[in-house]
Amino acid sequence: MTSPASPQFTNSYATLPPRFYTKMQATPVAGPTLIRLNADLAAQMGLDADWLASEAGIQMLSGNVMPPGADPLAQVYAGHQFGGWSPRLGDGRALLLGEVDGPGNAHWDIQLKGSGPTPYSRMGDGRAWLGPVIREYVVSEAMHALGVPTTRALAAVSTGEIVLREDRMPGAILTRAASSHVRVGTFQYFASQQDVEGLRALLDFAITRHYSDLAKDDALGFLKAVIAAQAELVAKWMGLGFIHGVMNTDNCHIGGLTIDYGPCAFMDAYDPRKVFSSIDQHGRYAYGAQPEILVWNLAQLASSLLPLINRDMDDAVKVAQEALQEFSSLYTDAWKRVFFAKLGLKTGGEAEITLVQDLLTAMAENQADFTLTFRGLADGTAREQFVDPTVFDTWAEGWTARNPDMQALNDANPAYIPRNHQIELAITEAVSGDLSRFHRLCDVLTRPYSNQPGQEDLQAPPTEQELVRQTFCGT
Ligand code: AMP
Ligand code: MG
Repeated sequence: MTSPASPQFTNSYATLPPRFYTKMQATPVAGPTLIRLNADLAAQMGLDADWLASEAGIQMLSGNVMPPGADPLAQVYAGHQFGGWSPRLGDGRALLLGEVDGPGNAHWDIQLKGSGPTPYSRMGDGRAWLGPVIREYVVSEAMHALGVPTTRALAAVSTGEIVLREDRMPGAILTRAASSHVRVGTFQYFASQQDVEGLRALLDFAITRHYSDLAKDDALGFLKAVIAAQAELVAKWMGLGFIHGVMNTDNCHIGGLTIDYGPCAFMDAYDPRKVFSSIDQHGRYAYGAQPEILVWNLAQLASSLLPLINRDMDDAVKVAQEALQEFSSLYTDAWKRVFFAKLGLKTGGEAEITLVQDLLTAMAENQADFTLTFRGLADGTAREQFVDPTVFDTWAEGWTARNPDMQALNDANPAYIPRNHQIELAITEAVSGDLSRFHRLCDVLTRPYSNQPGQEDLQAPPTEQELVRQTFCGT
């Protein structure tokens, strides 16, 4: 038997010019213990799960000891937060350790989230408490299992230290893995500094990482590729009733991954105006607003890329606008694929779009649970979600007339989503030392499309007492 091995890191982001980051070490923590390790993901990344769970591994996952080849740094970026411009954000509570090369030539960036203050921390302490770490772990891994591109959770450790929030909370660190951590806001940072050389280097990095079929200076091709990837992503969110909560441009990933799980949640009863985030007073990032906000974010990327698209500004603006105009049909196509599949329809036209919209309208009027309505199409229980089940019956006549593939329905409509009230419960219990619900949620949510006898309580929407109306920011 070979002994478990420490991973060998590299860090290609660290070879970019120094103005892209601040190189620094994590702030050590007093008493790290492993909360959960994602052994499946470790294997996918070519990492030794036994080593990660060992004392030496936990020292790495807590930031106390850096692995060989790591070159830790905090990335700088900017962004529009709720529409307001922040010229410098950056990793205020995270460090990129570097990357490991997994099987299949995949690069995995490894980041510690909650690793202590950096020059980008502004007023923050650079730490995370157990709650947001649990939320991000559960939701990001569920997203992956649901088939949605996302950053991943490799591990969670508790730090043995207290973090001050509204209360004294147990500190924790999430190890996040992703194909990169480059955001629309990263491009905005260099564009706002009129740093065309920086933009060019970032574009080269982003294309190499995410769109390697493109020529390394093809800014327009890159813009189109990001637009397509993000249209696909948000259509998938919509198909699951997912609300990101903070679709700021710094939380918009250029590889089309879901990133930065803060006050995010899956809807229970369907309501297109649904908002969870306590800081989203005006519904800017409501469920139904997400596609529009996405175009707004992509327009910020387009405008950042202009100097790389064409030296002639008028021409650059013209082709960038044309690329943005493509969004609407890309998104509609993706939306149709998602929602037609949810109804068991292979293709469709205007009549099928109306069919979906009629169902959604009826669901909203009847406070139907989003997940259980779609899941209930296969076994006839969908009608129970409606205050007036005959409304569903009438709709279902038009639906069955189209001969839906009943066998395919359960592959497009999950039985399990990370219900917000279950996450809140898991957090409350974890804070008092009981991690069992957190582990159970993680385990069940690795197979969200399967019926799992004995786990039915995790399918249920919240009771009036359990209902979580707001989710606070993920710090
Ligand atoms: P997020 O909500 O994760 O999108 O973060 C927005 C910005 O606030 C990013 O620049 C974060 O690094 C920063 N930030 C969030 N929480 C903290 C914290 N506890 N300490 C320092 N910076 C933070
Ligand atoms: Mg962020």
